[in-house]
Amino acid sequence: MDLGLKGKKAIVCAASKGLGRACAENLAAEGVEVLITARGRDQLEATAADIRTATGGTVHTVAGDVTTAEGRAAILAVMPSPDILINNAGGPPPGDFREWDEAVWEKAVGANMITPIMLIKAVVDGMAARKFGRIINITSGAVRAPIPALGLSNGARSGLTGFIAGLSRQVAKDGVTINNLLPGHFETDRLWANAANEANKSGKSAEQVMDGFRATNPTGRVGYPDEFGRACAFLCSVHAGFIVGQNVLIDGGRFPGAI
Ligand code: NAP
Repeated sequence: MDLGLKGKKAIVCAASKGLGRACAENLAAEGVEVLITARGRDQLEATAADIRTATGGTVHTVAGDVTTAEGRAAILAVMPSPDILINNAGGPPPGDFREWDEAVWEKAVGANMITPIMLIKAVVDGMAARKFGRIINITSGAVRAPIPALGLSNGARSGLTGFIAGLSRQVAKDGVTINNLLPGHFETDRLWANAANEANKSGKSAEQVMDGFRATNPTGRVGYPDEFGRACAFLCSVHAGFIVGQNVLIDGGRFPGAI
């Protein structure tokens, strides 16, 4: 299927690895000019080189922290008028809420709620004026089924979800769609870090915890990042213009609800 995205421009945040990278790869494969970001420059440049080799496309890089105003300004200086924005950042750490002071909460809400809102604010009116825009926020299955140890993530991402539910209905008439993609377990460095954290608490190895994730999933496995990237590319496509304000859970059926 031709996704109709040739010549479009996309900012893909936090994309030197994992789910962000997979989104950038799949957009670039569709002929989208992509800008990828991450804090670590070496991995970022290596990923950009891989995507250029694989797709022959144009890949810009901006090294910096997307959760800071300076980091976001650097991104927008290189690509001020994207057609597509993929919001992503590292997830907050696990723990017990009794250990988290106000500063910890502000950091989590800053990274996983305010950062995407600030980037949306910077680009959404331009998209509406051009009558095409696609904004995807990578959130988490924890929005549907909160994970006790990830209280910072549960809380901050739910705030973003509520905001997007309102805004997405305001801009849809101008051809701009905003949706959230909710990953379940995908095999990335982040999932291995979560597995290691659970292993520390339970006395198991990280590999045993990962095996548990696989065994309890209806598919018998965890997700491949490329599967996530392909879903993201479709939601960005010209064919997805009637998908508005949705929270699309991609978890292999792990969440047991009927709807
Ligand atoms: P990952 O494999 O650890 O990759 C994270 C990427 O984000 C890296 O490229 C990292 O590069 C970049 N990054 C992190 N913080 C950043 C920042 N402040 N500014 C710019 N770039 C930043 O993680 P992932 O599994 O793809 O997860 C992506 C998001 O999905 C996270 O929010 C995670 O919590 C959420 N999620 C993942 C899963 C899963 O199973 N994988 C499940 C639910 C939710 P640098 O470190 O160099 O900056």
